[in-house]
Amino acid sequence: MTDRLAPGSRIGILGGGQLGRMLALAAAEMGFSTHIYCPEEMSPAAEVAAHITRGAYEDETELAKFAAQVDVITYEFENVPAKTAEFLSTLKPVRPGVAALATAQDRLVEKNFMRANGIATAPYAQIDTLGDLTQALRDIGTPAILKTRRFGYDGKGQTKIDALGDAEKAWQEIGQQPAILEGFVPFAREISVLVARNSNGDLAAYEPGENVHLNHILHTTTVPANIEAPLVATAMAIAEKIAAQLNYVGIMGVEFFHVPGNETTPLVVNEIAPRVHNSGHWTQDACQVSQFEQHIRAICNWPLGPTTRLSDVVMTNLIGDDVDEWDVLLSSPNTSLHMYNKAQARPGRKMGHINQLTPRAL
Ligand code: AMP
Repeated sequence: MTDRLAPGSRIGILGGGQLGRMLALAAAEMGFSTHIYCPEEMSPAAEVAAHITRGAYEDETELAKFAAQVDVITYEFENVPAKTAEFLSTLKPVRPGVAALATAQDRLVEKNFMRANGIATAPYAQIDTLGDLTQALRDIGTPAILKTRRFGYDGKGQTKIDALGDAEKAWQEIGQQPAILEGFVPFAREISVLVARNSNGDLAAYEPGENVHLNHILHTTTVPANIEAPLVATAMAIAEKIAAQLNYVGIMGVEFFHVPGNETTPLVVNEIAPRVHNSGHWTQDACQVSQFEQHIRAICNWPLGPTTRLSDVVMTNLIGDDVDEWDVLLSSPNTSLHMYNKAQARPGRKMGHINQLTPRAL
């Protein structure tokens, strides 16, 4: 028995950003049409999709109408309200599923899941009060990072604590919300793996890329990452284990810290993203099947595509005004430009990205 969706089926996507746009483009190439659901009037994804619903994520009447018009529902951002995902899943398959989404949305649940599955993370503690925080700082030590359990991204909702005396200030800073305290990991680099799983249980991971951030926003992803060959396999195996244990369907980003001096656990999982991920954009030009096509394959229960890298590659995000250089970048050798067609280039806004390939000599 297979629940493989045939070309011509309709894929519903929650969210109208650039990730939804690139998913819709990949789906179109495979013969699917997409239906974007998002609150915004104009969005990068809606522009390339066959159908659009403009609605609030809490509006169950609109959500039900949307669900009636699609065969499977996915999402391009992880902060889809849990109630929305649960409601939709009573109407149509939601992939990745509600349980995986709930795990990725809450840093404490996520860390507990890793611990239960023997996957290394930073030392951490649950924080509900200032008293919990001072105790955890004594146990874990400083420096440490206080992170809200929910709705953190690109360095938001978190603060570094260098001394026990700074506990109260940090607790105020994150708004006294349920949080976790993490020990500071003395990492040499950050890497990430994109892994796909379909509902047959087939798994396919791409090799790790090495990520550099600027102002808390991803700047570049370089592949291959500067790590030893055995660690490439270890990172891919950890990502596959996470996807399998979560009963995950779709593509997922797994972010790691690389700690070369640590003999037993040189790779520490930072967090997972239950969706296509900025650090996987390199696959669009350096692999036969991109993370976007792979996600569509996975949620439609198609066989997963090859993940072999065909070229060395550096992906660079175009943030804010960077995008004004588009024609210069376009003229660089072996470079492809991916633009999101956003109206205004505000500081910190992701406007597009480039993939620069370094093909090997034949
Ligand atoms: P996150 O939102 O968890 O991805 O954290 C944003 C950034 O903060 C990461 O990319 C790291 O550079 C840094 N960071 C987060 N957690 C830790 C940690 N436990 N130790 C050291 N650096 C961290």
